[in-house]
Amino acid sequence: MHHVLRSTQYAIRHMHIIETIADFRRVRPQFGSLGLVPTMGYLHAGHLSLVQRAKAECGAAAVSIFVNPTQFAPHEDFNRYPRDMERDLGLLREIGTDLVFTPPMSEIYPPGFSTYVEVEGVTDTLEGAARPGHFRGVATVVCKLFTITQPTRAYFGQKDAQQCVVVKKMVRDLNLPLDVIICPTVREPDGLAMSSRNAYLTPEQRRAAPVLHRALSAAQQRYESGERNGDTLRATMQTVLHAEALAETQYVSAADPLTLRELDSVGTGGVLFSMAVRIGNTRLIDNLLIEGE
Ligand code: AMP
Repeated sequence: MHHVLRSTQYAIRHMHIIETIADFRRVRPQFGSLGLVPTMGYLHAGHLSLVQRAKAECGAAAVSIFVNPTQFAPHEDFNRYPRDMERDLGLLREIGTDLVFTPPMSEIYPPGFSTYVEVEGVTDTLEGAARPGHFRGVATVVCKLFTITQPTRAYFGQKDAQQCVVVKKMVRDLNLPLDVIICPTVREPDGLAMSSRNAYLTPEQRRAAPVLHRALSAAQQRYESGERNGDTLRATMQTVLHAEALAETQYVSAADPLTLRELDSVGTGGVLFSMAVRIGNTRLIDNLLIEGE
């Protein structure tokens, strides 16, 4: 009993929940090396894997929870994006998060806000082409979160492959003093990449959703058996997606992992297989990276 009580007390050590930039700046000096995990909340095991990695590699782990309006287009799901702050805080407390930054909208975008970060080139294709303005919103909020929280390292998921490329480029181009760490995509047992947006799926749509991962795996298999033609690899993914009646493909891609341009043929630079697929009203993305030599 005594032992159980002690370990429980250890697990519920203090977690700072901070809503303002001024408070974060006041608390920040108490921590040395800090790992930041930016999120939009409605946390799942993918997010938590990033926090665990931050905890393992840095003296302290901070998580931001902010549904960022500037990365959503007017017709997108900003208003209905799932939110459950109490549950999120419980999960973060359980795994021993040190700091949680939960700013209200007015803290990040006060009246008169008009400065944005535009990362050129790598935002022209894929998600950047399908969602104009998306990465301007992402880069802006991530840059602000970096300057507010001053992390030693920041952790991002490979699930959002283009976001990883964009954030790394911004950090390099603006000389931001931190390291960007990319963590593997966490999947459900049937292959579906974990995502807050999976909550939108009806049971029938949920059964159809692993088709993205099956399509990526098919392309990987073709690649591993020697196929290097870009069109053939893209067609392989498209064929698998086409067989699922509920899936409506927005794009499939076999691109250079650094420039994100479509490849005619895969060379020594490796290939990023990626796709965006609509299932009902829900837009899902997934990808698989084959690294260069
Ligand atoms: P979000 O809350 O969707 O903005 O995601 C916050 C961070 O978690 C981003 O860096 C995502 O790439 C990452 N992430 C989301 N889903 C997963 C997943 N299934 N596996 C690993 N990382 C993820």
